[in-house]
Amino acid sequence: MRYPVRLFLVSIFTVYIACAPSVNVPVAIHWYQPLSLSQPPAVSLAGKKILIDPGHGNASSGAVGINGTKEKDVNFKVACILKKLLENQGATVYMTRISDTAGWWSVNFTNREDLDKRRALRDSLCPDLFLSIHHNGSDNGSPDTNGSKTYYAMGDAGASLDAAQYINREFTELLGLGKSLLLSGNFYILRNTKVPAVLGEPCYLSNPVMERLLCDTASLKLEATAYFRGIIRWFSAGVPKITGFTIDSANGMVTAIVKSETRLDTQFTNIFLDETRLNGKICENGYTAGFNPPLKNECHNVKCTAGNINGNLSTCAELSFIVDRPVKTLISSVENTPVLNSARLFITALDRYGYPVRNGTRILLGKQSVAYTENGVARFYIPVADTAKTVDISCGGVTIHPFIPEGFHRLPDIQGFISSSDTNFKISTGIISIGDTNYSTDQNGFFSIELFDTGLQMQASFCAPGFINSAAALYRNKINQIKLYPRAQGILIGKRIVIDPEFGGAEPGGLNNYGVRACDLTRKLSLELEGLLRQHGADVHLTREDDRTIHVTERVALSEKYSAEVYLIIRSDSIQKVPYVSYLPGSRLGEKISEKISFEWNQITGNSASICEESAYVMRQTRCPSAVISLSPINIEKLFESNLYKKIAVVVLNGLIDYYKETSRFAD
Ligand SMILES: [Zn+2]
Repeated sequence: MRYPVRLFLVSIFTVYIACAPSVNVPVAIHWYQPLSLSQPPAVSLAGKKILIDPGHGNASSGAVGINGTKEKDVNFKVACILKKLLENQGATVYMTRISDTAGWWSVNFTNREDLDKRRALRDSLCPDLFLSIHHNGSDNGSPDTNGSKTYYAMGDAGASLDAAQYINREFTELLGLGKSLLLSGNFYILRNTKVPAVLGEPCYLSNPVMERLLCDTASLKLEATAYFRGIIRWFSAGVPKITGFTIDSANGMVTAIVKSETRLDTQFTNIFLDETRLNGKICENGYTAGFNPPLKNECHNVKCTAGNINGNLSTCAELSFIVDRPVKTLISSVENTPVLNSARLFITALDRYGYPVRNGTRILLGKQSVAYTENGVARFYIPVADTAKTVDISCGGVTIHPFIPEGFHRLPDIQGFISSSDTNFKISTGIISIGDTNYSTDQNGFFSIELFDTGLQMQASFCAPGFINSAAALYRNKINQIKLYPRAQGILIGKRIVIDPEFGGAEPGGLNNYGVRACDLTRKLSLELEGLLRQHGADVHLTREDDRTIHVTERVALSEKYSAEVYLIIRSDSIQKVPYVSYLPGSRLGEKISEKISFEWNQITGNSASICEESAYVMRQTRCPSAVISLSPINIEKLFESNLYKKIAVVVLNGLIDYYKETSRFAD
């Protein structure tokens, strides 16, 4: 699985390899030795649907060996042999392409559209296994690198992991390249899969010995056999399949409907309701578990993985459903009734079990005024008269007439709204500080502060992430309208950015002449950048905040968890002394980020930062645009300049602002 590299800074990558999984095998003597194989178990694959994806083809060659052998051709040949083997066993086999160029493909397709089409085939055929066949290319151009890897779809540690494990075991046993690595993969072709999905890289085509071996049909047969034996063994242990759920919310029963040729085992079967594991038992049509009814009025989630007596798991099945029982009872309370202000009327809306109705239920005051419930409570602000009165409150056919007493004679609360100066957008994250006490706005940017007998006006200061702090007087006898000015036109507010300080823990990276470790520098810079981006309203996450070892696949998983929109790898290069920014070949947006950061570096320092391509593991596997930022190589004199980190953080901030300005224009 490799993308073509146009511009290559060879020395950058040697740094990365320390934490990228790869295997160096010095001798070739045991590689791809044809074995006298025992017959595979006589298992019928009748009724099994398998979709094989010979990687690349169409416009993409994939990795290319020194002597010009193309990955797409090798992938295709192996796929064809495997197809035959599986069909002989009775399986129905489909291929994403049946020649070099697929019938569905057109020259106008981008690489992404090509992969989208393959995924669409996967999703519409719904096979029992999706297998993408590849051959590796070394990241650093080293011809010596070799080794086998099997990837399972990240997030499916059920059937995808099982299938990959069986295949991986055969790679280790048959190919002679040492222990094959089993890894979770977030490759585009594996993402969002609902069926077991595996991607195989049995060896490196970039290794010239391997390239020669792959020209021999016996080697291709050996690879196909390894896949075949893994698949056969996996299927023969039985693969449970969850086909649906039934939920009885009144009696508290949830059942996962499971299709399985082999008996299920409670030990390997799990059912979760809203992240809580339920005690369940095997039943006639699957697996059933009880919970305490009734469920609350909200969105619920049920998840199940079914395992059989051989320990084989299904893919994880998931279902979200909403419980929304109608209102039965309305209860009112009036909290206080200041003279110049308003009464706060709280309405609690409950269902027939006494549970709060679903969030966002509409409550009507009179005919016009509307409020929505949160945790079962809606609130109204009602102008208070000198005499008592009743009002009409209704919801879903239930009506009550709460009594609003006449106003108390005391100082009213301080109330108002905080909004953005340009768009009038209400700021829900605002903080109002009076003296040492802080108050927050609600989701409508509204605040109401109870301060007894301290005058008619007082000085307050205001802040909110993404806005410039300000100060003003607040008055009791009016609704205060506070405007805050957004930083950088508010362009970074809410943007989800993941910062990844390279290395850490047992992988310290390079060391400079003063004994400073790269992992500490990258962390320091990342924290500086995080603070600055947060100030501008971005939703920032770090892959690590302390000095700990963190595997590349974990970094990818974190980027998924935080739904990153931009992924920034912070590097302190120990070999390259020149600053640079790099991006994944073919990533238009990654290139744009790199250009903008490089441009800002030039604007602020007067020096240039080169832009290059790099296909680091994390960049290949994160679904958002990414960039490696190496503006503070570990061996430069300026490293100890006190403001270097602040300067770099400002460069990246400005670069991201430029990037978002330009890309949001694209979106228009
Ligand atoms: Zn490939």
